[in-house]
Amino acid sequence: MTHAPILVTGGAGFLGSHLCDSLLSAGRNVLCVDNYFTGRKDNIIHLHAQPRFEAMRHDITFPLYVEVGDIYNLACPASPIHYQFDPVQTTKTCVLGATNMLGLAKRLRTRVLQASTSEVYGDPFVHPQTEQYWGNVNPIGSRACYDEGKRCAETLFFDYRRQYGLNTKVVRIFNTYGPRMRPDDGRVVSNFIVQALRGDPITIYGDGNQTRSFCYVDDLIDGMIRMMDQPASYGGPINLGNPSEFTIRELAECVLRLTGSRSRIVHHPLPADDPRQRQPDIGLARDDLGWQPRVQLEDGLKETIRYFRSIIS
Ligand code: NAD
Ligand code: UDP
Ligand code: UDP
Repeated sequence: MTHAPILVTGGAGFLGSHLCDSLLSAGRNVLCVDNYFTGRKDNIIHLHAQPRFEAMRHDITFPLYVEVGDIYNLACPASPIHYQFDPVQTTKTCVLGATNMLGLAKRLRTRVLQASTSEVYGDPFVHPQTEQYWGNVNPIGSRACYDEGKRCAETLFFDYRRQYGLNTKVVRIFNTYGPRMRPDDGRVVSNFIVQALRGDPITIYGDGNQTRSFCYVDDLIDGMIRMMDQPASYGGPINLGNPSEFTIRELAECVLRLTGSRSRIVHHPLPADDPRQRQPDIGLARDDLGWQPRVQLEDGLKETIRYFRSIIS
């Protein structure tokens, strides 16, 4: 008799594969479900020898009948170029995917955690963003499939909690980076590192004065697991991210310094609806989860650069 595995949707992706690693290290059984849209078998290949690990190809917009313990719902492309590639599928993944995972959790009476996002705050008028802020999102813009999809998923999580008494958890993840991001991910940290390592120009969109706060993946996964382990009455939403704020220009300069690259900086137009500022208020996570990020940007970047050096020829 083995314990029911913990389900990780999007388990072959960047965050999901690190979560699988952590859960397995803690002695748990893991079922990874992924349709490999942005995920890669390489991210989980090291786990296949592990008898407590199992991977299944499945698209969560379709119902899923399996017997599992907790559910971590991470399936969804996170990078703007990938979630805008097939926006209808992105909305379906957020909304139908959440519905199916909630239906599964309801049948099994398991805990279920949703990987939501700081994008629910849109281009925020409140800075830094607390969980009480309702956001400023364009419902018909090119980011809406993701932003509004994730907002609707949160709505479903809170309605299943109120209507069916489910033990739901919602974490709002802010920009996270680390090993196993794709070289073609399109987000700023991987773009800058890959460009620097290849000697290509560093592409700053706009003037580079917009800000982001970057959380290292290990810190983020620790916060997510702590949230799952909160009492049933505690559903969030809760911000998880690193409050240290940097301009995109500062990030470019840091990557150039750490790689020793001679790449030059070029400016490209700012994408539509690109938020000017983003920084989490993590007071709630500090108080309620006893969590705060530990990895400094430079240290996390060094690890990430090491990874990209190993996969880029
Ligand atoms: P990722 O693209 O690396 O991983 C997403 C995974 O989901 C991939 O393996 C992909 O193949 C899979 N997937 C996509 N659609 C699917 C579907 N319909 N059915 C099954 N699998 C599907 O992205 P990530 O950075 O690891 O993000 C994971 C989660 O965390 C996402 O839900 C994302 O919205 C959220 N998040 C990430 C960040 C971040 O900075 N990385 C920030 C905020 C929120
Ligand atoms: N669902 C699933 N796996 C299960 C149970 C349900 O994928 O083990 C799906 C089901 O197909 C449905 C969704 O989850 O589309 C929501 O389920 P719920 O029971 O809340 O709604 P209902 O089936 O009553 O529409
Ligand atoms: N960005 C940039 N150059 C790039 C990729 C992104 O200057 O090559 C900028 C982007 O315009 C945004 C910030 O970096 O202001 C963060 O972008 P990312 O796509 O990583 O995440 P998000 O916009 O979702 O926070």
